[in-house]
Amino acid sequence: MMASSSPIKPVMCWASVSALHRRKSSFRATAPSTGCEIVIRSLLIANRGEIAVRIARTCRRLGIRSIAVFSDADRDAPHVKAADEAFRIGPSPARDSYLRADAIMEACRRAGADAVHPGYGFLSEKPELPTLCATEGIVFVGPSADRIAAMGPKIGSKMIAARAGVPSVPGYVGDDQSDARLLEEAKRTGFPLMVKASAGGGGRGMRRVFSEAELAPALEIARREAEAAFGDSSLLIEKLVLRPRHLEVQIAGDKHGNVVHLFERDCSVQRKNQKLLEEAPAPNLPASIRAKLLERAVALGRAIAYDNLGTVEFILEEGRDEPWFLEMNTRLQVEHPVTEAITGFDLVEWQIRIASGEPLPVRQDQIRERGHAIEARITAERADQDFRPDIGRVSAYREPRVIRVDSGVGEGSDVTLFYDSLLAKAIAFGETRSDSCAGLAAGLRDFIIFGPATTTPFLIAAVEHPIFAEGRATTRFIEDAFPDGWTPQRKESALARAAAAIVFVTAPSPEGTQSVWQRLAGFRVLGPAGGLAASRVVVREEQADHPLTIEALHHGRYSATENGKALELDLKREGSLLEIAVDGRVIQATFQMHGANLAIAIGEERYSFTVSTEAEKTAAKGGGSKSGAILSPMPGIVAEVKVAVGDIVEARQVVAVLESMKLFISLEADVGGTVKDVACAAGETVQAGTRLILVEPNT
Ligand code: ADP
Ligand code: ADP
Ligand code: MG
Repeated sequence: MMASSSPIKPVMCWASVSALHRRKSSFRATAPSTGCEIVIRSLLIANRGEIAVRIARTCRRLGIRSIAVFSDADRDAPHVKAADEAFRIGPSPARDSYLRADAIMEACRRAGADAVHPGYGFLSEKPELPTLCATEGIVFVGPSADRIAAMGPKIGSKMIAARAGVPSVPGYVGDDQSDARLLEEAKRTGFPLMVKASAGGGGRGMRRVFSEAELAPALEIARREAEAAFGDSSLLIEKLVLRPRHLEVQIAGDKHGNVVHLFERDCSVQRKNQKLLEEAPAPNLPASIRAKLLERAVALGRAIAYDNLGTVEFILEEGRDEPWFLEMNTRLQVEHPVTEAITGFDLVEWQIRIASGEPLPVRQDQIRERGHAIEARITAERADQDFRPDIGRVSAYREPRVIRVDSGVGEGSDVTLFYDSLLAKAIAFGETRSDSCAGLAAGLRDFIIFGPATTTPFLIAAVEHPIFAEGRATTRFIEDAFPDGWTPQRKESALARAAAAIVFVTAPSPEGTQSVWQRLAGFRVLGPAGGLAASRVVVREEQADHPLTIEALHHGRYSATENGKALELDLKREGSLLEIAVDGRVIQATFQMHGANLAIAIGEERYSFTVSTEAEKTAAKGGGSKSGAILSPMPGIVAEVKVAVGDIVEARQVVAVLESMKLFISLEADVGGTVKDVACAAGETVQAGTRLILVEPNT
C-alpha cells in the first residue's frame, strides 16, 4: 500500500466533526504490532440498509473510496447508490449473501479494498471476518478477532466481567450445561428467571421462566432454538429483573492500550427485547449510579485491552443502585448517533482511525457532553398488531428537514421479509431533554413513508407519553403506557376517506384520458346542465368497506357523503401535497395514489385505502357476477405480469404470477374482457388485497 502524500495529525483532526469537513487525505498511521504503515484508501462495507449508507457518508467525507455489497433483493437499494462502487455477493437470503464471509472477501479482492467495515448484525460479531482479513492483509474496522471471540458469547463475557470485578445480573454462567446443573442453579437464582442463549442477539434467544415446573421444557426448547438460530446451544440463567432500565456505555479503546468511555445511553423503551427509543444522557440517573456505570464499563474494556468501539450493556433494577452487566456488543451500535450528537464525534471515523492504528485523539478528561439527544427507530411494523413486520414497496418517501435522519430506504424501495425491519432512524438533538423530545416528535410528524406500515405514529405517541416525557420509562414502558395495547389515533378518518374518494374519482384513468368520473357510465348522475354530478365509490380501510357518494359542486369543491353525513371539501393538489379546506379549516396533507391504492398523511395520522367504484365492489362480492378486479390474495412479490393494458383476455386466463412464501401462485382473470389497468410490475412487493390488474368484462 502506498503512503499518503499528506500525513495527518490525528489529534487535531478527529477531535471535532466540523474540522473534519476540511480533511481530504486518506489515513496513514503506524501499526504498533508490525511497525508497518497502514493507509486506508478504500473501504468495503459488509452490510446493507441505513448503516451501510451511514458508513459510506463518513468515507466520502474522509476521502475514502467506499465499496458496497448487495444481494439480489438489494440491487437498487440506497446503500448501493451511496457507495462509489458496489459488488453483488449473492441471492437475497442473508445466509447466501450478507452472512457469507467468503463472498465478502471475494468482493474485497475484486474491489481492491484496503479495509472492511462490518456494520452491526450479520458478520459484525463473528471472529471469522477479522481472521480472514488478517490473512489477506486487509484492515478489519472493528476489534481484533480474539476480543470478539472473548466478548461475543454472553457466557464468556460474564466470566471475564467477574474477573474484572464487574457484577453481572445474578444467575449462572458455566460450562456445565447439564439439566441437573441448570436446575440446581435455577433454584439457587430463584424464579422468575430468564434462560438465554449465550450466542443470542437482537432480542432473540431468551425466554422467561416463572416456576420450576416450566424449567425443563424451557431448556429443551431454548437449546434447540439456540442451535438452529445461532449454531451454539449453550445457555445461561439470569434472574428476571422485573422493571429494569436498560443502560449502556459507549466505550472506545485503541491499539496502544487506551480505553475511554463516551458516556451512557438509556435504551429502556423496547418491544420484544429490542430497542425502539434511545437517548443520551440517561434521564433521572443519580450521579452515583452513573459513576458506577461508566467506571465498570471502562474497567471491563481495560481488562481485555479492548481495541475499537464497543458497548457495555447493563440493567438497573427499579429501586436499586447497582447496575448489573448484561452483555457487551463488540461493534458499532444502532443507536450510536445519540452519542455522536452529545459528544460531537463521528464514531465511524473513530472506528476507522483506531483500526488503522492511530491512538485515541483525546484523553478521558477531554471528552465533554452537551445537550440531549434521542433516537427513534422507524421500522416496517404494525405497532397496533404486536409489532408484526409489514412489507411492501415504499411508494412515497419524505424526510423531515430539521433533524438528523439515517435511512436505508427511499421512494421505490422494496421492504421484504429477507432482512430486519429497520428502515430509518430519526435523531433529535436539543439543549435540554424536553427540547429534544419536542424536536423528535415534530420530526416524526414530518416523516412520510407510504407503502408498508411503519412505527412512526406509535413513536410519536411514545415520545409524548408522560412516562417517557418525564424520563421514567423502564423496559415495561409499552405495557405501562398503553395497557390496552396501542391503537393509532384516527381523528381525521372521515376526512381522509372523503379526500381519498375525491382524489380517486377525479384522477385521470390509467390510459390518461378519462377520470373514473367519466368512465363510470352506470354510476353517474347527470347534473342540471347534463354534466356529471355524482359518483359512488367504496373506500376500503383494513377490512372494512365504507361506501361514499361524491358530488362535484363547483370548481375544486366537492361534497362527500358517508352514512348520511356530508362533508364539503375544497381540494388543491400540487404534486403529492394536498390542501384540504373543510369548515373554514385548512389542512396540509400528503397523498400518494397507485392504481386503486391511496395513502394519505394528515398530521401524524397515516391512512391507507383501496378505493373502488361501487361497480367493481358489488361485482367482487360475487352474487354471480364477476368483477374483473384481480387482487393479490396474500402479501408477496409479483413474479410475472403476463398482460398489458388493452389486451383481450379470456376467463381463467393466467394474467400474473405472485411469489409468496416460496410458492408461485398463478392469478387468473375471473372474467373475459379487456385489460383496463395493470397496477403492478414484476419484482414489486405487494400487500394482500392490493388490486393488481383490472379487466373490463365483455358486455
Ligand atoms: P443494538 O444493541 O445495537 O441496539 P440490536 O440488538 O437491536 O442492536 O441489534 C442490531 C442488529 O443486529 C439487528 O439487526 C439485529 O437483528 C442484529 N443482531 C444482533 N445480534 C445478533 C445475533 N447474534 N444474530 C443475528 N443478528 C443479530
Ligand atoms: P441481546 O443480545 O438480544 O441484545 P440482551 O441480553 O442484551 O440480549 O437483552 C436484551 C433486552 O432483554 C434487555 O435490554 C432487557 O430489556 C431484556 N433483558 C435481558 N435480560 C434480562 C433480565 N435478566 N431481566 C429482565 N430483562 C432482561
Ligand atoms: Mg443487548
